[in-house]
Amino acid sequence: MASSSKAPSSRRSVFDAVHIRSEFSAAGISAHFIPLIWKYVLQNPRCSDLDGVPSLPAAAYALLRQKFRPTTSTLTAAADSKDRTTTKLLICLQNGESVEAVVMRYDTRLGKYDGKPRPGGVRSTLCVSSQVGCKMGCRFCATGTMGFKSNLSSGEIVEQLVHASRYSQIRNVVFMGMGEPMNNYNALVEAIGVFTGSPFQLSPKRITVSTVGIIHGINKFNGDLPKVNLAVSLHAPDQDIRCQIMPAARAFPLGKLMNALQSYQNESKQTIFIEYIMLDGVNDQEEHAHQLGKLLETFKAVVNLIPFNPIGSSSNFKTSSDQNVKNFQKVLKGIYRIRTTIRQQMGQDIAGACGQLVVSLPDERSAGGATLLSDIEDLRI
Ligand code: SF4
Repeated sequence: MASSSKAPSSRRSVFDAVHIRSEFSAAGISAHFIPLIWKYVLQNPRCSDLDGVPSLPAAAYALLRQKFRPTTSTLTAAADSKDRTTTKLLICLQNGESVEAVVMRYDTRLGKYDGKPRPGGVRSTLCVSSQVGCKMGCRFCATGTMGFKSNLSSGEIVEQLVHASRYSQIRNVVFMGMGEPMNNYNALVEAIGVFTGSPFQLSPKRITVSTVGIIHGINKFNGDLPKVNLAVSLHAPDQDIRCQIMPAARAFPLGKLMNALQSYQNESKQTIFIEYIMLDGVNDQEEHAHQLGKLLETFKAVVNLIPFNPIGSSSNFKTSSDQNVKNFQKVLKGIYRIRTTIRQQMGQDIAGACGQLVVSLPDERSAGGATLLSDIEDLRI
């Protein structure tokens, strides 16, 4: 459970990129030492100081000791799904709050490579959080029930990757954990800047930011984060249903959102990923599939249908039947020629699936079973 807030130490995360660059610059130390420091922490994630970083100028050690910590967050627990494809990490932040990050591993022996191992070996996707809680209040989402508590710093976002790297080599990062990333925009841009540089070197094409549709964020996205994937949690093909299940949609009318997405796509030429949670009797009928198909007619888009994860007895929603999900997919693919995938769930047994991220861990390290999710790399067209 999230603990109550406590006063943060005055020392910042060494991964707060803007801050460390400005401190180095003010002290006349070259910024090219910074990736060496990050590499050291990545290789020594439990180090308590930075004195062991090799070959820095003496002034850098003094500055680091005074103003920075290798990590400001602590990995407090990890839970594996029974089949070990998914690991949920509970991470305690400097202010005493906790967030979760989820590592999803893809089985290289399975899938669409004629039963042969996938080229490139094991790959994992990390789902990161950008806020503690979330103010958007989506009614199907466990995090939405927490309300908003605080924004993560860019360093705290990056540290999730540092902690996760102890468990798996991360190839992809998705901002689909706790929080609405566009509501913490500067930290989002800064963290992605670190992910794509040395030593992490993630390709921007392997990073996906998921938003409920914050229009002013979408308008800036391509300029600030070219080649990074944009996923939009649309979840309904008309404004009324959207407002029912996503109260924040009132501030971002569907017509204006689609216009912003069209401008984004015209400019970026990027495929847009549309997330659509399937809620029984709410948005999962054939008529909704036709509405969605028409809405996306002018787009290059991939629709990801997400079976709803029950988030406790308080939820009013039910999971759509398999038949409804398949019918929905058939309409989008067959009539509107839209690439449409059905997300198979991973980590439901540890509450690490979409819409389930709220700070809690089971008593047992594993229970139940989880199945494979499509690798984000497989969705690219
Ligand atoms: S689905 Fe995303 S935006 Fe909506 S409440 Fe949950 S975390 Fe926030």
